[in-house]
Amino acid sequence: MSQQAPSSVQQIGRELVIVWPDGREDYLDLESLRRSCPCAMCKGEPDLHGRIHKPAARPYGLGAFLLQRWATVGSYAIQPYWQDGHSDGIYSFDFLRELGSRVETA
Ligand SMILES: [Zn+2]
Repeated sequence: MSQQAPSSVQQIGRELVIVWPDGREDYLDLESLRRSCPCAMCKGEPDLHGRIHKPAARPYGLGAFLLQRWATVGSYAIQPYWQDGHSDGIYSFDFLRELGSRVETA
């Protein structure tokens, strides 16, 4: 079953606050969010053998952890636009829930 769309998404300070229809609230640190960017450029793509070729770590530029805005993609994801111009990451609601769960257990 796919995760339902959040009831609300807002930025408070350095966190993205997501309220889910079941009442759960996730506070996602913007820096962690950016570091978790799921796009092929940040995360790497698996080759034919399933091995991930992760690109060499690049230093994050100015504004990399600052959110300009975000867009809702279809009914399944959020796409953040970072101030350094990066916006390739499509964060599915499932993925956001997972990130939120990691924060809770940390
Ligand atoms: Zn990315």
